[in-house]
Amino acid sequence: MRIRNLIAAACALLIALTPIGIARAASNPPPPAALETPGIDAHLGYQPQQSCTPSAKRGTTALLKALIKNWGGSSWGISRFCTSGGTSEHKEGRALDWHMDSRKAKDRAKVDQMIRWVTANNGEVAYRLGIMYIIWNQKIWSIYYQELGWRKMASRGSWTANHKDHVHISLSWDGAMGQTSWWTGAVLRVPNQGRCGTGSNAACVDQVKRSSSSSWPKVTVGPFRPYPSTVPAIAGSARVGLTLAVVPGTWTPPGATLSYQWQRAGKAIPDATAERYRITASDLGKAIRVKVSATLGSTTVSKTSDSTTNTVAGVLPTPRPVVTGQSQFGSPLTGAPGDGFPDGTTFAYQWQRDSKNIASATAASYTPTSKDVGHAVRLRVRASATGYATVSTYSVARTVQPRAFTAAPTPVVSGDPLVGGTLRATPGVWQPTASLSYQWYRDGKQVSGQTKSSYRLGKADLGKRVHVRVRATLAGYATTSTYSEPTAKVGAAR
Ligand SMILES: [Zn+2]
Repeated sequence: MRIRNLIAAACALLIALTPIGIARAASNPPPPAALETPGIDAHLGYQPQQSCTPSAKRGTTALLKALIKNWGGSSWGISRFCTSGGTSEHKEGRALDWHMDSRKAKDRAKVDQMIRWVTANNGEVAYRLGIMYIIWNQKIWSIYYQELGWRKMASRGSWTANHKDHVHISLSWDGAMGQTSWWTGAVLRVPNQGRCGTGSNAACVDQVKRSSSSSWPKVTVGPFRPYPSTVPAIAGSARVGLTLAVVPGTWTPPGATLSYQWQRAGKAIPDATAERYRITASDLGKAIRVKVSATLGSTTVSKTSDSTTNTVAGVLPTPRPVVTGQSQFGSPLTGAPGDGFPDGTTFAYQWQRDSKNIASATAASYTPTSKDVGHAVRLRVRASATGYATVSTYSVARTVQPRAFTAAPTPVVSGDPLVGGTLRATPGVWQPTASLSYQWYRDGKQVSGQTKSSYRLGKADLGKRVHVRVRATLAGYATTSTYSEPTAKVGAAR
């Protein structure tokens, strides 16, 4: 019993130490004898099934054979009846089903190796084979969403429907037609979509002569090359004076250094290499786009955004012009257009009286004349800039005030205040010289018709006090009156 127990324990240990289901590492399928590298095939991303041509295409057949030859498993076919439901590249002979069982560790390890081979180096082999996407074990990898890696898929029900017992690979038309560099050795630079050499389609890629040797060189895995998963775009509107911003998109792998070159009508704009670009008058009527270049190591990849619409004229700001000065006859007014105008804006000035242009008043400064007194004066500023629509703005209208006399003397009355005598008014010296008029008063009441500088006293003035008013008028000045002192009571004639 003891011995049997010992043997049983030893066997258990042996079983535990024996690696189960670890596949012997197979090498990757041999590439063509001459394989253009580091160039890589053009790829259009996802090309869904659109027609019915279910015959197996030669690139699809060759890939399925290569997978089975290298890693085993078996074919579950390529073609599918067009009457079966759903969109499927099987209906165009562009998809293959490779039977491998995810329950078997050996099969899983082999599929894992196939996946590493296809997806390494940013999917270099996938590009060379024209692979669009791979589904395995309810997960999907696609060349057009590489940055998302392997994505879990919603359950479709059965074991087979969830691809747990086979690998599905869909190919681009070029991959399905065997026109990609894995099969030809020459990098496909213009996608042919399977129709090479017909009509206006590009000529088919020449086949590179294959070596008969079985020791073909391995794929040289170059440095990772950055790859955009979303095309760069532009944020903003194409209007002179506005600023556009680049939306560089997502680049895989992360860590690439991005640089920018803005273009006008397809040509590089000198010094426009920042993330933002302010649109100038030179862009008017032209479309703008931006080229984004991603550099990783010694490799640079560029993608160009779509163009904007043609640039339209800019909109100038309309601040209210500011006028400084007293708005008074003879005092200069000075206008300024306000802030916010782009460099190079020119301004035309026009002063207006009651909203009508004042002749020759077209400078930034204007001195109101006597004609302006009592009227509303304002400044119109017309702003113009190349590439912008011209705008007119107006200052606040202000009523022009008259000036005051600088000297308005009190008149002095001379002469004896006796009935029959004559009084004389001396107005003094007004500054500036004004036109003077007179009015005599008797006990504070106007004496009708007595509007000269002298006044002969009559009987009606007896016992009353007399004074005179001097009224000064001058264009542009406020009419001003001054009054003499009243006389003593007018006495009887002598
Ligand atoms: Zn399939």
